[in-house]
Amino acid sequence: NEFVALTNTPPDTMPALKARLFANENPYGISTSAKEAINKATALGNRYAWMEFAQLKKMIADAEGVSPKNILITPGSSDVLMAAAVNFSQKGAILTSRPTYDDLLERATKQNGQILTVPATTGLGYDLAALKAKALSTPGLSMVYIVNPNNPTGTIVSPAELAQFCRDVAPKVPVFIDEAYIDFLEPADRPMLGKLVAEGLDVMLARTFSKIHGFAGLRLGYVMAQPKSITQIKPFTNGEFAVGITTLMGGIASYQDQAWQTYCRTENAKARDYTMKELKAIGYEPIPSYANFILFPIKMKTQAFENQMYGQGVGIQTREIDRQPYCRVSIGTMDEMKIFMDAFKKVVG
Ligand code: PLP
Repeated sequence: NEFVALTNTPPDTMPALKARLFANENPYGISTSAKEAINKATALGNRYAWMEFAQLKKMIADAEGVSPKNILITPGSSDVLMAAAVNFSQKGAILTSRPTYDDLLERATKQNGQILTVPATTGLGYDLAALKAKALSTPGLSMVYIVNPNNPTGTIVSPAELAQFCRDVAPKVPVFIDEAYIDFLEPADRPMLGKLVAEGLDVMLARTFSKIHGFAGLRLGYVMAQPKSITQIKPFTNGEFAVGITTLMGGIASYQDQAWQTYCRTENAKARDYTMKELKAIGYEPIPSYANFILFPIKMKTQAFENQMYGQGVGIQTREIDRQPYCRVSIGTMDEMKIFMDAFKKVVG
């Protein structure tokens, strides 16, 4: 086979693919404005980026209705997730629901932390009512972890219910919400929970530039939280200076580039709609997705499916949930989704 499955493949032997749809990346790249800013920033590579950190924090704070003191910038949101895992796993059990994004939970487990879960809804979403009941009745919890939109399911919870959940739970247990995919929602549909942070609630919101801004390789993220939470988490991060001035200046440009974000969101929605429709037309039932990937049950074993898709030059991921195999396909360009559909039809016969 020309293409090798990613599973257990070291990155230095990453296969060349016709469609790279396994990592929820932005297929459109970074904006022209970000490229120009990064080019300019190379000339400032000899300077520490104090002012630029302040500039980006001010922009985020203004947009989200928080204070710059509520923001910690990190090289990607993974840095915040890992730091939160280390900090909170020492203090008590972490409550969540699965399937979800496992990185934080796996890191907490490595630290000998305890993970408690409530079952997902029938549509594989977060069951906020069950989560609230357990959060309020379980002693010794250190935090609740929610991913919204969730990965790998693409599901969301209602913004009003999530805000109410935070108001009810955060006075007792800190609530950590991973909003890596929030920018794929139309601005009017976003929960805008910064207002809860501004009110002083113990809510932590993790964000990344890896998705809508296309900065997965450039590494930029941040968390909005109470200053006391930032003080707790920060020692376990790599520190803000782990973000270079090129990434930072690129990020500042991209953050202001609404046209680029709208373009990526709109193109993502078009390619996602196309893929959903095509899958449904051949008898598959994708979970309605609000992010840049789709999860759907398949009728083959995960490893065989993955190998055959890679054999066709299409990189995807698989999951087994309640013994049912699923495909998680990232949304690429429309051309890439056509390649995906062609390969998928060949593989499943
Ligand atoms: N959170 C979720 C839900 C993700 O899916 C990802 C990456 O795919 C991340 C966080 C981490 O992204 P990054 O470290 O690139 O910001």
